Amino acid sequence: MSASSVWPARLALAFLLVVLSSASVLLWRQIEAVQLQRVDERVGYQARALVRQLESTLHLEVASLERIARLWNSLGRLPRASWDEEVERALRGFPAYQSIQWVGDDLRMRWLLPLAGNEAALSFRLHPQHPNYSLAMEARQSGEQRFSNSFELVQGGRGFVLYTPLYRTQDGARVFDGFLQGVFRVEPLMLQLLTQIDRDDFNVELLENGHSLFRHGAAQADERHSLQLGISLLNNQGFALRLSPTAQLLEQLGSPLPGVVLGASLAISLLLVAALALALENSRRAHALQAANRRFKVEAERREETEQRLRENRERLQLVLDLTDSSHDGLFIFDSDSRELLHMNQATYATLGYRPEQFAELLRETPEKLMPGFHRWLEQARQAQRDNLSRIFQRELIRRDGSRQPAEINTQLVQLHGREFLIAVSRDNSERLQLEAQLQRLSQLDGLTGLYNRRYFDQQLPSELRRLRRSGAPLALLMLDIDHFKAYNDALGHLAGDDALRKVSTVLQESLQREGDVACRYGGEEFVIILADTGLDGAEHVAARIHDGIASLAIAHPASPLGRLSLSIGLAVLDPVDDEQPGELVSRSDQALYGAKRRGRNCTYLWQPPDA
Ligand code: GH3
Ligand code: MG
Ligand code: MG
Repeated sequence: MSASSVWPARLALAFLLVVLSSASVLLWRQIEAVQLQRVDERVGYQARALVRQLESTLHLEVASLERIARLWNSLGRLPRASWDEEVERALRGFPAYQSIQWVGDDLRMRWLLPLAGNEAALSFRLHPQHPNYSLAMEARQSGEQRFSNSFELVQGGRGFVLYTPLYRTQDGARVFDGFLQGVFRVEPLMLQLLTQIDRDDFNVELLENGHSLFRHGAAQADERHSLQLGISLLNNQGFALRLSPTAQLLEQLGSPLPGVVLGASLAISLLLVAALALALENSRRAHALQAANRRFKVEAERREETEQRLRENRERLQLVLDLTDSSHDGLFIFDSDSRELLHMNQATYATLGYRPEQFAELLRETPEKLMPGFHRWLEQARQAQRDNLSRIFQRELIRRDGSRQPAEINTQLVQLHGREFLIAVSRDNSERLQLEAQLQRLSQLDGLTGLYNRRYFDQQLPSELRRLRRSGAPLALLMLDIDHFKAYNDALGHLAGDDALRKVSTVLQESLQREGDVACRYGGEEFVIILADTGLDGAEHVAARIHDGIASLAIAHPASPLGRLSLSIGLAVLDPVDDEQPGELVSRSDQALYGAKRRGRNCTYLWQPPDA
């Protein structure tokens, strides 16, 4: 996963976090709203209960005073004792009374209970300036009960009055007979009301036209949960009750749930997003790991391939080396400067009888002992490579036992990394050389007789002449020709002629006793003998021996006057001081042979100068 593809995922995670957090806050708000609603419900319930309680309590008193009024109205003015009895019953039933009193039709205080604490009211008269005056008049007119607003009581403290008009019948007519007044003090009324509720839970305030008449609990009530309900008291709708929960109640009703839920859901959101981020990171890492693994695999494969190739190359190299080892030709490569061996095969040292380290040391330390003329050979090899000439050299290598081994060495100089290497392939070619020598010799011999042939003679004579001239020694040349050989052939056949030629050749060969003496077949039945370092005497001696040898062969020759095979010899001797050429010598011996034929054959004639 690339860096660019990570960003959308991260943005999505951030978005998810925002959404989850918002949802958490929403949930929190909702739970809290439910909680607040519960508080409100509690407050509402309690407030309604209180208001109902207050209303019903006061209406009970309305009813009890009304009952007394009904008695009064129907029976006429009650006797004081009955009134006292009725009133005291009412007072006992309701401790919030300040007093119950009868104000006569002249609006002056007549009767009052209880006396204690209400002495100041005994002289009370409801005069027109009194705040309740008009309300009282309204009650008188309508004949209905009326609740006054609150006012400062003459006895002290704040209270309000329930005016119940009284009537009596006089002369058949209903005549106003004052008011039965129930005076209520606000404080005991409210205190009694407060016994209905757990006072620690609520702040309660009694209001009259928005003004506070009584307060229980904190002034600065929790405005959020406060509830104000109007109190309906007959005619008077000016009172209201305000209720609000105390901090204690709020604390009681409030639970840590919303906070816990908010905290938990925020934590869960965070954890979820963190887990997702982790998963994302993991997947990114997994991708990266996968990519790395792929790269590694490719690299490993490449390496494996390279190693395989290397192995193959090594095996191939080993095979090549093994093959070069199995070759009969020596192969060696060395630094031409230091003569350190880079490689050599087995044939290189084994055929010469060395151990590898011996060969290497010889080449490095004393190459001339390994190959006479080594340095010259190296120079020749360089020269040949420069001039693009044949780089095959015939050399000799010295075996471990000191003997020499002819070697045909093929060289190649190679420049590599600033060094010069010489690759040499050497072959023991002694056999071939022998064969060549044999062929060479065969090419010099005559097939029929086994003597040297004319070609050999033509080469040998000049070189022999040069050699003898250097040493000042004489050379004799004998030219020999079989007598009447044509007739021999004619008489006995060609095969017999050949046979006779072979026998004559054997005699010639055997009559030579010194090394360097050479007998050659010069042509058909003609021979030539070189006697090196031989003067006239020696040559005549050899010629005589030949005549004797042929005679002792005693080959019958039917067409010869002698009756046997014979030959004639022309002899020429060359004095080394003379400057004759080979051709001259041959010519002289030929002339001498002619002389021998003329003198009757089967003899030797020595060449004579023409003027002799
Ligand atoms: P002369 O005494 O004068 O030398 O008489 P000739 O018959 O020997 O002389 P010529 O040169 O006329 O004859 C040579 C003969 O030698 C001719 C040929 O028949 C014979 N001849 C030459 N080469 C060979 C050979 O290789 N084998 C045989 N069988 N005969 C040969
Ligand atoms: Mg002849
Ligand atoms: Mg002849």
